[in-house]
Formats: sequence, C-alpha cells, structure tokens
Amino acid sequence: MNEPPVEEVALRASRNQERTALRRTAAEFVRREVAPHLQQWEDAGSVPRELHAAAAKQGLLGISFPESVGGEGGDLLDSVALQEAMFEAGASSGLMAALFTGGIALPHIAAHGSADQVDRFVRPTLAGEKIGSLAITEPGGGSDVAGITTRAERDGDHFVVNGAKTFITSGIRGDFVTAAVRTGGPGHAGVSLLVIEKGTPGFSVERPLAKMGWHCSDTASLAFTDVRVPAENLVGEENAGFALIAEQFVVERIALAVHGYGIAGRSLALAAAYARERETFGRPLADRQVIRHKLVEMHRQVEVAKTYTRAVAARHVAGEVVIADACLAKKTAVDTAESVCSEAVQIYGGAGYLHGTEVERHYRDARILGIGGGATEVLTDLAARLLGFR
Ligand SMILES: Cc1cc2nc3c(=O)[nH]c(=O)nc-3n(C[C@H](O)[C@H](O)[C@H](O)COP(=O)(O)OP(=O)(O)OC[C@H]3O[C@@H](n4cnc5c(N)ncnc54)[C@H](O)[C@@H]3O)c2cc1C
Repeated sequence: MNEPPVEEVALRASRNQERTALRRTAAEFVRREVAPHLQQWEDAGSVPRELHAAAAKQGLLGISFPESVGGEGGDLLDSVALQEAMFEAGASSGLMAALFTGGIALPHIAAHGSADQVDRFVRPTLAGEKIGSLAITEPGGGSDVAGITTRAERDGDHFVVNGAKTFITSGIRGDFVTAAVRTGGPGHAGVSLLVIEKGTPGFSVERPLAKMGWHCSDTASLAFTDVRVPAENLVGEENAGFALIAEQFVVERIALAVHGYGIAGRSLALAAAYARERETFGRPLADRQVIRHKLVEMHRQVEVAKTYTRAVAARHVAGEVVIADACLAKKTAVDTAESVCSEAVQIYGGAGYLHGTEVERHYRDARILGIGGGATEVLTDLAARLLGFR
C-alpha cells in the first residue's frame, strides 16, 4: 500500500490536535457554564440568551461554518467532536437543540444567501447576538416537507405570507425564522425559503409548547397573517427552497445521531458510577453479573452507534453521497438512546424516576430523537428506496 504524502500526515496530525483542543474547550464550557444551571433552565423552559454569547466567545457556535460568514471554520467532523465532548460533560439534548438552533437555521443562508443576508442573520447569530429558528413543520404535518401550505405571494418588492408553523425550536426566543413557504405550485418545486423577522406586523408567536422532554428548549407555534416580508429576504432562487432544505438533511440527521449516542454514553457513565456505589443486599450493584452485563450491553450499543455515525460523517466530509447511511446511523443512535437511557433509569431504581435526576432527563429527551429531523419510519423507507429494496 502507498504511504500518504508527508504533508497529508502532518495536516491530519494538526487537525487531530485542533479537535482535541476543541473537545477540551467544549467540555470545560459545559462544566463551568451549563451543568450548574441546567436544571434551573429546564424548570424555566428556556436557555438564557447570554449563553449564546458565552458559547460564541469560546469559539463554539461557529464551528463548521466558514470564516467568510463569521464562522470558526472546520467541518462536520469538528462539529461531531464538539457535540460529543459537550454530551460527555453533561449537556442535554434539549440544551444542544436550543443553543445550536443556528445549526439548522443558518446553513442555507450561509451557502446561498446574499452578502446582506449573511451580515444581518448569519454573523450576528454565530456571534451569539441573535437567535434564529428553522420553520418547516406545520399543524397539518411535518414529515411531508414538500406538502407545506404556508403561502407567500409576491406583491411588488415584498412577499405577503399567510399560514402557520408549529413545533419550532427556539421560536419563542428567536429574532428571525428561516421559513419554508409556498411561492409556486404544489409539491417540492413550489417551495422557497424566506427569512421572516420577529416584530414584522402580522407575525405572531402563539404560545410556548409544553413537552415531555427538551424542557430547556423553547418550542413555539407561529402564525403569519398578511406578513409583508421584503423580497430581499428570499434565500437563493424562488421555488428552489426544497433543494436547499434537502441539502442540509444529512448534517441534521448526523447531528441528531450524535444527540442519541451522546446522551446514551452519558447515561451509561452515570449508571456505571451509580452501580459501583449503590449497595443492595449488602453488596454494590456492580457486583451482580446481571448488572455488569447490562452495562456491557449499553457500552456495546453506544460504541456501535458512535462508530457508525462517525464513519458516515467522515464519508460525507470526503464528498460521498451518504443519504441512506445517515438515515440508518440516526436510527441506530435513536434505538441506542431509547434502550440505554431506559436501562440507566432502571439501574438507578426509584432515584432514576425522580424529576431532577440526570438520567431521568436523558430518558425523556431521548423520545423526540426518533420523531424530529425525520421520523424513523420515513427515514427507513427513504433508505429502502435508495438501497434498491423497493
Ligand atoms: C420538540 C420538537 C422540536 C421540533 N423542532 C422543529 C423545528 O425547529 N423546526 C421544524 O420545522 N420542525 C420541528 N419539529 C417538528 C418535527 O420535525 C416533526 O414533528 C416531525 O417532522 C414529524 O412531523 P409530525 O409531528 O407532523 O408528524 P406526522 O408527519 O404527522 O407523522 C406522525 C407519525 O407518523 C409516522 N409516519 C409519518 N409518515 C409516515 C410514512 N410515510 N410512513 C410510515 N410512517 C409514517 C411516523 O411515526 C410519525 O412520527 C420539532 C418537533 C418537536 C416535537
């Protein structure tokens, strides 16, 4: 086998060093600025805006966004490393959803938006000064993205928007939404992306939605009644929005896979520590073979999901089309989260059922991962089609 050129080896070594430093910064950030306050934010139902500024200051918010749009540079593997380190240090899935909503609201603007849009929305969000949301799902359905009905009619140099969105992450705190709107005929060919700013007359945030998990992540229903949006807020070409949304699906699915094995790995670490301490019938739980084997099985599931997801992310970065594998990596990580977080609660016994115990939070948070960002059934069927099984 040919040896890789010396320059490539040196580059790889330097990237690995950078990633190790990023992991350290991210973990310290969570231990210092997140973990001590997380339960309070869960109870309050939102994450403070100042946390965004603090994360930006540490160079965390802009990871994997190019420096030309105000990001920190890096690629999806850096973003995976960052997220893994934050989960290992005690971040929750809801916290990550709230703090990194820019990760789903901005990529289309960063890649296809005008310089003005980048200056107004991308830079300030990556600097932690603004919060943006992505609004695709509607009360009539979320899985069928091409079926959205929120209408944007062209009127001179404005679009007039009418419709509603629901389940929008950071929709309560958000300063703007990158919204999927129908500007053309039915199906995917009539969808556009439009940035709509909070405060525009006719744009109302209906209410915060109370949820099973992700308590610190505010979720909103939004309504648009004759909202006049400047045409300059159109992202990319008119009626080309579906492709822009679809382009980001792989990254979103991989990010949610990291949420899955991230909270599973953290729950495993907590359960293993608890099993060493907690005594029943005069012996630590970890002395029981059945408990040790449970922990080993949890470890196996976490390693499988992590290894698979990292491999798919690396292939994506290398330029391969990995749509089917991203769907399956997400499913693998979702199954892992549901099984491992549940076993962690079991090992904790009654304490695991108490509000405020960390494993209880991960157990509840896990349940959204197989629904949001593409329901498991929908993604599995997409994989079936791509793999030629249909
Ligand atoms: C906490 C939270 C945060 C969210 N954040 C956002 C956000 O920021 N932005 C945003 O746009 N959306 C967001 N969503 C919406 C999320 O993406 C949708 O809930 C998801 O896409 C599913 O859409 P739905 O809920 O309308 O379910 P539906 O589309 O009605 O589907 C219901 C269920 O039916 C099954 N199903 C659907 N289609 C098929 C099929 N073809 N074959 C087999 N089974 C099928 C699945 O089990 C699915 O869960 C969020 C949701 C939640 C709960």
